[in-house]
Amino acid sequence: MNEERPLASWTGTDRLDDRVVPSLTVILKTPGCSWRRCRMCSYRHERHGRIEDAEALVRAQLAYVRREYDGCDFDLVKVFSSGSLLDPGEVPPAALDAIGDSFRGRTLIVETRPEYVDRSRLDDLASHLDDGSVARPVYVAIGLETTNDLVREKSIDKGFSYAMYLHAVREAREAGAGVKAYLLHKPLFLTEAEAIEDMARSIAEVSPHADLVSMNPCTVQRRTELEWYWQRRAYRPPYLWSVLKILLDAGRHVSSDPLGGGRSRGPHNCGSCDREIVDAIRDYSLTAERSRLVEAMAIPCDCKKEWEFVLENERPYCMPLTR
Ligand code: SF4
Ligand SMILES: [Zn+2]
Repeated sequence: MNEERPLASWTGTDRLDDRVVPSLTVILKTPGCSWRRCRMCSYRHERHGRIEDAEALVRAQLAYVRREYDGCDFDLVKVFSSGSLLDPGEVPPAALDAIGDSFRGRTLIVETRPEYVDRSRLDDLASHLDDGSVARPVYVAIGLETTNDLVREKSIDKGFSYAMYLHAVREAREAGAGVKAYLLHKPLFLTEAEAIEDMARSIAEVSPHADLVSMNPCTVQRRTELEWYWQRRAYRPPYLWSVLKILLDAGRHVSSDPLGGGRSRGPHNCGSCDREIVDAIRDYSLTAERSRLVEAMAIPCDCKKEWEFVLENERPYCMPLTR
């Protein structure tokens, strides 16, 4: 069989069922996201081939992954595309089955928009994946971003409601699948304080409806509407102090990988305390040791005063309600 490299693949470690487990992450090339509108997303530009060729394309990438990671020990596989793995218009059902066959006996997390989560599709996937050795072989990961419909619509243009997310959770649970919710910290048009509030509420509200919660501090990706605002000084990625505060105040473990941490396009503080805080957040995500966050919050850096000033004084981005 022909081999084709995925967009990216790597091994690492992840937290699952209160354990740290070896994991494999694969980002597959597919014909791409069917929505392609989210204001902060550059993945929507990733489009590979036509749907007619998608099954062969996925199979070729799976062949590469099987060869490349043959003999590697990993319990968890996370498969992403630049869209939705469960969208039959992006990943044909036979290709999804092939993903299940390739990782039989492991736990598989597939990322998708909620409208594609349906019980029979998950049952099919589980039948290819499950060899009886894992209690819950399939998890669906959904980029809910926030539980606030207005923020999801106006600041992100995500195109689905919280009610649709909850429907997807019911479908997943009926199929015996787990659910991972991704939240987005500080999309466009929110002040630093509003963004903290949005995440605090979202974590509390989604907790009964997600087995795993992960928060992505927003980064400025290229060729996005968010970048357009950022270049005009109308957007600043969140402070790492805010990320710490949200994780500390959450009533549960929330994982977070501050991609681009410390850089101007990523979540950042002043430049000198960033590295230590990013390391603490990554450690906490994996080990759930709260003391790492407490220590990081106590780092004596002058930029903490700047952050406190911003929280108190920043006013919402002013938009006229009418023309
Ligand atoms: S965030 Fe997801 S749904 Fe939105 S455009 Fe990007 S890939 Fe599509
Ligand atoms: Zn600092």
